[in-house]
Amino acid sequence: MQAVRDNMAVRMVEADSPRVLARPDHIVSRDGMSSAAIKVLYRLHRSGYTAYLVGGAVRDLLLGGHPKDFDVATNAKPQEIRRLFRNSRIIGRRFRLVHILFRGEVIEVATFRASPDAPEGPDDWDEAVAEAAEEDAEPDRTPVPTRIDRAIYGTPAEDAERRDFTINGLFYNIADYSVIDHVGGLDDLEARLVRTIGEPERRFREDPVRMMRALEYGARLEFEIERATSDAIDECRDEISEASPARLSYELFETLRSGQAAKIYAAWSGAGLFERAFPEIAGQFKEDTRVLDVVDGAAAEGVQLPDATLIGAFYIHPFFREYADLTADGRKLDNVEMLRRVGLMLEPAATNLRLANHTLHLVMQGLFTLTKMQRAPERGRQVLKLARQDYFDVAWGLFRIAGAVGLVSPDAQRGWAQAREQLVKDRRRSDEEPESGDQKQPRERRRRRRRRPRRRKKQ
Ligand code: ATP
Ligand code: MG
Repeated sequence: MQAVRDNMAVRMVEADSPRVLARPDHIVSRDGMSSAAIKVLYRLHRSGYTAYLVGGAVRDLLLGGHPKDFDVATNAKPQEIRRLFRNSRIIGRRFRLVHILFRGEVIEVATFRASPDAPEGPDDWDEAVAEAAEEDAEPDRTPVPTRIDRAIYGTPAEDAERRDFTINGLFYNIADYSVIDHVGGLDDLEARLVRTIGEPERRFREDPVRMMRALEYGARLEFEIERATSDAIDECRDEISEASPARLSYELFETLRSGQAAKIYAAWSGAGLFERAFPEIAGQFKEDTRVLDVVDGAAAEGVQLPDATLIGAFYIHPFFREYADLTADGRKLDNVEMLRRVGLMLEPAATNLRLANHTLHLVMQGLFTLTKMQRAPERGRQVLKLARQDYFDVAWGLFRIAGAVGLVSPDAQRGWAQAREQLVKDRRRSDEEPESGDQKQPRERRRRRRRRPRRRKKQ
């Protein structure tokens, strides 16, 4: 307790006078930032506002890494930010954020905040879609009332204090290129420690998803979890089942795409968080973490597996158990029964993770297709027919995972790999052929469809 009090005392002082590293004393450089982030920081600064790069980007740059995205915090109010950037829109319900849209990149700009609550999660993002539509129709929204401004918006020091971990609470100031530390993050980066800002139990009860995030950073950065922080996870782990499904689902998919899913899963599972956050998946997925190594391998190759493949991966073993059961003693597979069982198996996760119907359809069909891929294809026609289905990519991803964990014969793997290679070659060739009138149209349509979902940063 004494330690906690001392720690608080130190932090109060830090809040008043942050530690500031001048440009020559740190390695954060604009070369490591995206041009979009630099543009946003400078435009805010030149318009007279304070503009900081914040969060993971500062952390990663200080560690010599490459940030995955760039977040900005400022004293400009959402409406003011909106006015400075034509390519922007306001999102979020309580904490109104501004997304500034660039080609292939979204810079998230938040006004300094006083509230310690969890930041906007997918609940708000859902709202964001509706709001964006509204925004298009009516660009001049009513300004946020100042009473709310006072309750929500705060000073940079308060904004740092409400963040989750000390290593995520650092600011980079575009005005003089300094790094500003209100929370002891520089020391913890040095010591390679994940430590909550403020009293850990309180912070985890406020927002239980922070426990999962602590372990994610520990695994991703190979940092240790500071003692009081990890004790608090032991204490609060049951609270995770109270977290919003949309946010849990978001953490899960982010993790599965991080290239470090095997490590993060091990940390979550070791702390008893995985089975509490995702009981329906944990009940089925115990026996083979090699599955996650394959998922990580895909991320390392730059392949973005769709949600359906990622979810399906957890069910590879149970799926093959059902398949073995239904084909025991050389019986012919009853397709209808197989699909029914796959549906039953996936239903709890689909509900709890709020999977879209279409995603569920892709997982079901993707898994089911594996029954047709048990033997090498005999005719090109069979491959072509399958390849035309909307779920073929999902099936193919799951097929590779199944192969890697020994659930498909090497012969079938070779056969399908060859067939697919041929298919890709044929497609490429037909794409390269001089355009005749009726070839041009489908290709343009395809491109347009692919671009549309990029409008949102997180889904
Ligand atoms: P990543 O590299 O995964 O993007 P990040 O640290 O940037 O890591 P984000 O989820 O992008 O993580 O969040 C950006 C910042 O917002 C964090 O660094 C942290 O300061 C703050 N933040 C995010 N989630 C929370 C939370 N649940 N509670 C408090 N602060 C949070
Ligand atoms: Mg980030």
